[in-house]
Amino acid sequence: MALLDGKTGLIFGVANKRSIAWGISQALAGAGARLAFTYQERVGDNVKELASILSGSITMPCDVQKDDEIQSVMDQVDREFGGLDILVHSVAFAPKEALDNPYLYTSREAFHLALDISAYSLTAMTRLALPLMQKRGGGSVITMTFGGDRVFPNYNVMGVAKAALESSVRYLAHSVGEYNIRVNAISAGPVKTLAARGIQGFMDMYEKSREITPLKRNIEVSEIGNLALFLCSDMSSGITGEVIFCDAGFNIMGLKQ
Ligand code: NAD
Repeated sequence: MALLDGKTGLIFGVANKRSIAWGISQALAGAGARLAFTYQERVGDNVKELASILSGSITMPCDVQKDDEIQSVMDQVDREFGGLDILVHSVAFAPKEALDNPYLYTSREAFHLALDISAYSLTAMTRLALPLMQKRGGGSVITMTFGGDRVFPNYNVMGVAKAALESSVRYLAHSVGEYNIRVNAISAGPVKTLAARGIQGFMDMYEKSREITPLKRNIEVSEIGNLALFLCSDMSSGITGEVIFCDAGFNIMGLKQ
C-alpha cells in the first residue's frame, strides 16, 4: 500500500511543468493521492493539460486574493472528494518594481499586495479547508518559503512576506492542532521557475549557491516533492509549526563568499 492511498489533496500554485507545486503534485500522486488543482486564469491551459496526466484529478480557477473564489474551490473539492487530507500552498507574488528597487522604496500598495497573495492567502485557505479536513479526522497543510529570516539582495518585500508566512505557519499550527491538522513550511534553495526568474540577479544567486552549499549543488524539484510527501503523510505525524530546509545545506553556512 502506498503512503497516500485513499488521501485527497488540493494544490494551489501550479503555473507550468517547472512549478514547485507540480513537482510536489507528482510526488503526492505517485504515492496514491487524488489531487485537485487551482489555477490563475492566465495559466489555465497549462494546468489543465498537466492535471490531465493524473487520473481522477480536477481543476478549478482561483485568485487567492478572493475569499469567495477560495470558498467555491473548497465547496467543489468537498462535493467531488468528500473532504480533504492535504493542502499545498505554493503561491507568491510581488510587483516587479518592488523587486527591482531597494527595499526602502517599497510602496504601501506593493507591500499590501505581496503580503496578501504570498502570506495572508495561507490563513484564508487553511480556515476554509478546516471543515473539509475535520471530515477526514485531520490533515496536513504545507507552504513554500525562502529568505524570511535573512536578507537576500532584490528579494525585498518578498522576504518580508515570507517572514509573515513563516510566522503564520506557527500561529496556524497552534490554531488547528486540536483538530489533528498540521501546518509546516518547506524552505527551498533556488529553483529555476517562472516566479524565480522575476527576481533580479536570480541566476547569479542560483550559480553562487551551488558553490556555497555543503552538497556543492542546487536542489532538484523532486527533492522538494519527497519532503512534501513526508510532511503530507503520517510519517511526519509528530511535526507541526516547523520550517524545514531543503536547500542542500545552504542555510547552515556562516561565510557565504
Ligand atoms: P511559479 O511561478 O511556478 O509558481 C507561483 C504560483 O503563484 C503560480 O502558479 C501563480 O499562478 C501563483 N499565483 C500568483 N499570484 C496568484 C494569485 N493572485 N492567485 C492565485 N495564484 C497566484 O514559481 P515557484 O517558484 O514554483 O513558486 C512557488 C512557491 O515556491 C512560491 O511561494 C515561491 O516563493 C516559493 N519558493 C520558490 C523558490 C524558487 O527558487 N523558485 C524557492 C523557495 C520558495
